Amino acid sequence: MTDKVRVRFAPSPTGLLHIGGARTAIYNWAFARKHKGTFILRIDDTDPERSTEENTQAILDSLTWLGIDWDEGPLVGGDYGPYFQTQRFDTYEEALEQLKAKGEVYPCFCTAEELAKAREDAAQRSDSFQGYPGTCRHIPKEEAEARIAAGEPHTWRIRVPEKETVTFEDVVRGPQVFQTKDLDDFVLMRSDGTPTYNYATVVDDALMEITHIIRGDDHISNTPRQVMVYEALGYEVPKFAHLSMILGSDGKRLSKRHGATGVKEYKDRGFLPETMINYLTLLGWSLDGETTIFSVDTLKENFDLQRISKNPAVFDDEKLQWMNGEYLKALSDEAFTEQATVPALLEAGLIQEGDYEARKDWFIKTAELAKPRIRLIPEIAPLLQYLFDDTMDFDQKSVEKNVAKEGIGEVLDKIIEALEGIDENEWDVAHIDEVLQPMPEVLEISKKKFFQAIRVGITFSQVSPQLSESMELLGKERSLARLRKVRALAL
Ligand code: GLU
Repeated sequence: MTDKVRVRFAPSPTGLLHIGGARTAIYNWAFARKHKGTFILRIDDTDPERSTEENTQAILDSLTWLGIDWDEGPLVGGDYGPYFQTQRFDTYEEALEQLKAKGEVYPCFCTAEELAKAREDAAQRSDSFQGYPGTCRHIPKEEAEARIAAGEPHTWRIRVPEKETVTFEDVVRGPQVFQTKDLDDFVLMRSDGTPTYNYATVVDDALMEITHIIRGDDHISNTPRQVMVYEALGYEVPKFAHLSMILGSDGKRLSKRHGATGVKEYKDRGFLPETMINYLTLLGWSLDGETTIFSVDTLKENFDLQRISKNPAVFDDEKLQWMNGEYLKALSDEAFTEQATVPALLEAGLIQEGDYEARKDWFIKTAELAKPRIRLIPEIAPLLQYLFDDTMDFDQKSVEKNVAKEGIGEVLDKIIEALEGIDENEWDVAHIDEVLQPMPEVLEISKKKFFQAIRVGITFSQVSPQLSESMELLGKERSLARLRKVRALAL
């Protein structure tokens, strides 16, 4: 085995990339990057019924969106390919020939019914051992060969030694010890010539020279079986790191019941890929026990297996949203506009392609209005709609509370008059403030009432981003048109 770290993420394309899979991918990738090793993407598509090309594509898309790049695998190739298990059937066949030659496997002719019956009998007897009873293990070689030659359907099972101990080192959980008497002679090759997971994965991991297997702990019970396959084939056993489960807020394993679990859904909800990498990494690993926000570069420089936690992590959507807000705030105004504002406004139909390019500076100024107020990208559209849509209705409650009040009509008249005096070319925050700030005192009205009436006029609502900035962005003409419109609702 090579000294260089070689790790793999091996999704089955039976569904989309979900949160748990993404975390596994991130850990493998970060580990490879930290050790200047190789990160391999392998598609475990041996289940023909449930694997689809669409799912494979969706997994590649989600990984790409997250920024997880692979050094070997689909699209990029590599020296250890092919990287789709369905293209490796010859390899599994060849490895099986070696196992046959060494006597490590034997053919099993039991039918599905016979196996079911054996299981039932064992269950009825409440046997501690419920696995395959070894029915075909002692069929003499000549008889087995004759039955195969006669075309009798058969699987190939591994000959598990009877009273041995299998141990492996788990980097997260420490040494693991299993007794072979608790394991049955499991199937490596099915009667239709397709390999089982425990077989194909070992052949591939061995031939791809994988040094560390980092995967979910739902596979830990498979690992002793896989260790036996490595040993039967005469390959060195890699190191294992089994990751604890991710739980939902109710303490149960994270699943569809808890809402979105596919990475794509998080993209659609308006999370940044950087947030997802950071947050998912924290579900079972920590940089120093306290830092919550760290860059992808920091992750790639510092990731290690020693800091992976044995305890299950709890997925908290609220915290994820908070973190996304922090990531959005940390973007430069330009980056925020390009990665968040423009896509959100296009999606909502508030702007058209090309609008941004036509007046970038104007758009970039909207960042300071939106940045402090949102956590998810789509929230930008309703928040900034008033800057784009002159036909919005005034929020009824806001009008009742702040505009349709005795005396506000007169105040708005004065405001309109004063603002008309600002030169069109000087219509900016400084000049607007200079005109408006002294007025409440002169008009003997509270600052709050004064500015809230303007706010409703300008933004259609009593809750909205900074007022003078909004007026500057709208320009003199549109601002005054709105104030005149709201004046009509005042008393
Ligand atoms: N294809 C398997 C899965 O998605 C891979 C498990 C492994 O990493 O060995 O569960």
